[in-house]
Amino acid sequence: MSEFPTHARVVIIGGGIMGASTAYHLAKLGWKDTIVIERHKLTSGTTFHAAGLVGQLRSNANITQLLGESVKLYKTLEQETGLATGWKMNGGLRLACNEERWTEVRRQATTARSFGLEMHLLTPREALDLWPLMDISDLVGAAFLPTDGQANPSDITASLAKGARMHGARIFEDTDVTGFKVENGRVTEVQTSRGTVQCEIVVNCAGQWARELGAKVGVNVPLVSVEHQYMITEQIAGVTSSLPTARP
Ligand SMILES: Cc1cc2nc3c(=O)[nH]c(=O)nc-3n(C[C@H](O)[C@H](O)[C@H](O)COP(=O)(O)OP(=O)(O)OC[C@H]3O[C@@H](n4cnc5c(N)ncnc54)[C@H](O)[C@@H]3O)c2cc1C
Repeated sequence: MSEFPTHARVVIIGGGIMGASTAYHLAKLGWKDTIVIERHKLTSGTTFHAAGLVGQLRSNANITQLLGESVKLYKTLEQETGLATGWKMNGGLRLACNEERWTEVRRQATTARSFGLEMHLLTPREALDLWPLMDISDLVGAAFLPTDGQANPSDITASLAKGARMHGARIFEDTDVTGFKVENGRVTEVQTSRGTVQCEIVVNCAGQWARELGAKVGVNVPLVSVEHQYMITEQIAGVTSSLPTARP
């Protein structure tokens, strides 16, 4: 590991997918002297647990467009860094089991098309063709986004981190951010378990810990953790790895 610096222009806190992506994009834009500080290992936070489902449609147009950019990146990142992302474009199905939800899905289709995201409205029978195990007795309609997919979050992070390093960013693992020095309302120093680093800009990418980190300098990060559940099953006949992701 390279020597821990005493100065960096940008300090990114957190080595999950957000921190790695921020470092990658800043480095590619030509920002010099950027470091990432991660208290454990890259992806050791929530990124490690993510299922890797990439669904682009959100109620907010900006987020949807941002997710579209992610899909473009996941398709090409391996060529750039040599590290695979596990990207698989198997599509996403959104199911509407009542009229209100169907109205919402049709509105979403209009929004999606307005910024170039391909989205097809399907009858229950057409949805069944894509997901043959489904019970469609209460299905009103469905939407299919062919460019949705799945990837491996830890692999994407490793690939982004490699890309960031290739463009000059440095990453320090096993380094805990413990505090900050604030002067005239700006963070000028980040204190860590390996020493202090003077900086111009701090990017808080600490995920579910971002709130407590922000609170150290009086910044309110409006973020709370939401519990996820997932089940791992035995092989189910008819469930293949190419099935689209189904979202009720
Ligand atoms: C079970 C599960 C399934 C999920 N499935 C999906 C899915 O299918 N699709 C999807 O898009 N999202 C999914 N998510 C959500 C996704 O995992 C998160 O949105 C994403 O990983 C957040 O990334 P992050 O970089 O912001 O946070 P993190 O990956 O948590 O990274 C934050 C990092 O900051 C570090 N850190 C914290 N405090 C400090 C400090 N003081 N000093 C130094 N480092 C610090 C942590 O160690 C951590 O590594 C899922 C989440 C879970 C839990």
